[in-house]
Amino acid sequence: MATIALSAITGGLSAISHALRRQFLVGLALATAVALAPAQANAQGRAAPPAELKQITSDLYFFYEFAGSNAVFMVTDEGVLVIDTRTHPRHGQALLDMIRKVTDKPIKWVINSHFHGDHHFGNAPFKATGATFVAQAETARIMQHVQPKEMARRIDGFKNQGLDPNEVKLVLPDVTFDNAMTIKLGGREVRLMYLGPGQQAGDTFVAFPHARALFTPGAFGKRSMPNMAFTPSVDSWVKLLEQVATMDVDRILPAHGDVATRADVKELAAMLADEYATVKDAVAKGVSVDDAIKTLTFPQYKDWRNYNRLAGEIRALYELIQTGKRSYLD
Ligand SMILES: [Zn+2]
Repeated sequence: MATIALSAITGGLSAISHALRRQFLVGLALATAVALAPAQANAQGRAAPPAELKQITSDLYFFYEFAGSNAVFMVTDEGVLVIDTRTHPRHGQALLDMIRKVTDKPIKWVINSHFHGDHHFGNAPFKATGATFVAQAETARIMQHVQPKEMARRIDGFKNQGLDPNEVKLVLPDVTFDNAMTIKLGGREVRLMYLGPGQQAGDTFVAFPHARALFTPGAFGKRSMPNMAFTPSVDSWVKLLEQVATMDVDRILPAHGDVATRADVKELAAMLADEYATVKDAVAKGVSVDDAIKTLTFPQYKDWRNYNRLAGEIRALYELIQTGKRSYLD
């Protein structure tokens, strides 16, 4: 019913200016996204804002879903480039439907920014379009290696949303790169960068020089305490965030959380350095992990997103500092 009504409305828009029509269509896409992702309570118990499609420049779009994960797409005359495909094939399809309301150009490239399932489990509908998939070599390797664990930690979420876990199919990249890759599409250049491990090995940053915008992977979220179970080196992570904070861009488009600035990236680098130094100090003093969890409360970050996961993050840092191991990646 909704589909018929929408096509009748959009058909009647042909006389309206292209810009206005596009804005209207983005509005429709948004309505679709909201319908597909009903507001969920976040970890702090507050209602999450509804999903939103933000037009960053004439050709660059940021799909922002606080309760799930973000995606970015660039529309050119030659086709579309997409970064990340959300958490489930149904989410991926909804993203694809949204893109289709903005453009009918072919999907040429899909980049998966890191190995977490909430950024590539939506790949299958995009694979069906014939797009070429690209990821950093470590991301490709880990995606394959930890697929059962990535599924296991999302099963409850799928069930809560009425989604069938069996619909998730691992779609691996067609192309991998080690340090850098440039994609040229429709007169635009898109630069993929691997700056070393951040939140995990394989964390891929994507620059859109024409838009003065940078996509950041799991390594960054604005005022958000990250999951520390995957990083092989917090020092490397802090260093790369400091590097990103000096890049010549105006906008940061993160894999989680809203559009941010370089100052926000710098703030996260400082928080990580502080958290890491504090936990390292406790380990050096022989404090047990359970005592560290009781005493290291980091009250200065109590308003940050995911503060409620602090105990798990201290435990994960203890594992890294004491053993150098990342058991999740075994
Ligand atoms: Zn994620």
